[in-house]
Amino acid sequence: MNIALIAHDKKKDDLVKFVLAYRDTFAKHTLYATGTTGLRIQESTGLKVHRFQSGPLGGDQEIGAMIAKNQMDLVFFFRDPLTAQPHEPDVSALIRLCDVYSVPLATNMGTGEVLIRGLEKGDIDWRNLYRNKHC
Ligand code: PGA
Repeated sequence: MNIALIAHDKKKDDLVKFVLAYRDTFAKHTLYATGTTGLRIQESTGLKVHRFQSGPLGGDQEIGAMIAKNQMDLVFFFRDPLTAQPHEPDVSALIRLCDVYSVPLATNMGTGEVLIRGLEKGDIDWRNLYRNKHC
């Protein structure tokens, strides 16, 4: 599966801890991330991560483009709901595209736990049939 990892600055520690906790699971998949998040995850976990631009410089849109091509299977986007983001329109667009393409999306660690356990159990295997199909 292709998995996107994004975290706003105040949530990066949470996402790093989350990926470390489920490292064995993440290691079986192809990981994509916005620039700074990806660097933090690579350094902390040793996992290979394809890094796009930093979020405010277009990284969310690059991941959005993969979603728009129905190439992304799962998105962990740990948002900071208490801090204004300069690229808020990009954030909204990415979330909207997940809904357009029925891509499972976790915007916080609570939902992240459910999704990663679902991934481990095969609950998201349907994406293997649906990936790359057009709306
Ligand atoms: P970053 O981008 O990983 O480059 O910090 C995340 C974001 O703010 O969208």
